[in-house]
Amino acid sequence: MPSFQTTPGTRDILPPDAARWRGFVEKFSSVVSLAGFQHIVLPMFEDLGVFQRLGDATDVVTKEMYDFVDKGGRHVALRPEQTAGVCRSYAQHRPTAPWKVWYGGPNFRYERAQHGRYRQFDQVGVEALGSDDPLLDVEVIALAVEFFHGLGLRNVVLHINSLGDSGDRSRFVDALAQYFEGHLAELSPESVATLQRNPLRVLDSKRESEQGVVSQAPSISSFLSDEAASHFAQVKQGLDALGISYVVNERLVRGLDYYCRTTFEFQSTALESAQTALGGGGRYDGLVEDLGGPATPGIGFAIGLDRTLLACDAENVFAHPSARADVFVIDTTGGMQALQLCQQFRNVGLSSERSYGARAMKAQMKAADKSGASFAVIIGSDELSQGVATVKSMVDGNQEEIALDSVVGHVAAQLGKVIS
Ligand code: AMP
Repeated sequence: MPSFQTTPGTRDILPPDAARWRGFVEKFSSVVSLAGFQHIVLPMFEDLGVFQRLGDATDVVTKEMYDFVDKGGRHVALRPEQTAGVCRSYAQHRPTAPWKVWYGGPNFRYERAQHGRYRQFDQVGVEALGSDDPLLDVEVIALAVEFFHGLGLRNVVLHINSLGDSGDRSRFVDALAQYFEGHLAELSPESVATLQRNPLRVLDSKRESEQGVVSQAPSISSFLSDEAASHFAQVKQGLDALGISYVVNERLVRGLDYYCRTTFEFQSTALESAQTALGGGGRYDGLVEDLGGPATPGIGFAIGLDRTLLACDAENVFAHPSARADVFVIDTTGGMQALQLCQQFRNVGLSSERSYGARAMKAQMKAADKSGASFAVIIGSDELSQGVATVKSMVDGNQEEIALDSVVGHVAAQLGKVIS
């Protein structure tokens, strides 16, 4: 056993998985850039107060935060998510609205680590600040739909709901609290505890024994103001206009306290565990103001990399990118030829590999096979004395002798690469 291993809830993302992660973020970036979202990079830790604005009834804030006092006496926390950071950034820099940004990177939550749930996990997401237009909600949701589709996923269901404006929401929460108080005997001790902190979250209960009492609970739709109801109706109309199918799920309350009006979540039907949510988001019209900025509506979503890649595995899509080299240079004359040729290939944009340590021809050939390279370029002492190299196609085994100073151009032409 080595002295150290990764701590619980953290992992090394090894090759080739890390390349797949990068491809995931690149795909996300290309989808959202087309809609005018620009990349933002936020600090990984902030003043604890920034995250406390997410709400004191939220587990993420009360139980799962990695917070500490730094050497300067500041109470800071590793970010558990990035929406609060984006809103803090907006309040700090006051960019022109609408401000449309996207992010990717790790978040930290002290959770019970399990398959698909980690203490350090990556998300990609977008936030659009400065407009409460319901058609912006539609556009934002459509981006996530487009992204999942682009990965090749076909079994992702969009759930939507409206939590109304803050007045609607608090009347609903009061009604829920009253209802559940009257049915305490049917609730688990965990839900009774949740009820004290946040009655909305009791609706999230996945416990079989509580499904009856939860299903009879009051519905948010009967508490929506005319404005909130009309906003939600327009969101649904917009989704219909884009041909995006959805399920209205009145039990969808989502984890963080700040959501109002539109909320949504993407569930994979290809995943079997309880962890089927790939991502979600919603409106948070009061958050920027809470963080000391001007009253600013906002909407966004975050998508978890781990779970979305598990869904890709389950649907057999978005495979690992190929790590194959274009060329493998075999040099049995000491290695200097391989050093120079590899460099020349790289200079024209072809990937090249070689063996190290002056290994025998057979061992180098084996390494070339293993690399998956399309061509092997072989230089032995005979070739070197004649100023040539043997270029061998690793696909059909054909080989020919090419003058050393033409090898790069020859291989590039074979690979269909134009070099200047
Ligand atoms: P949330 O920020 O809680 O709305 O989560 C959005 C998405 O991030 C979830 O649907 C998951 O895909 C992912 N996620 C949240 N927490 C974790 C975690 N601890 N480990 C892995 N993925 C997570």
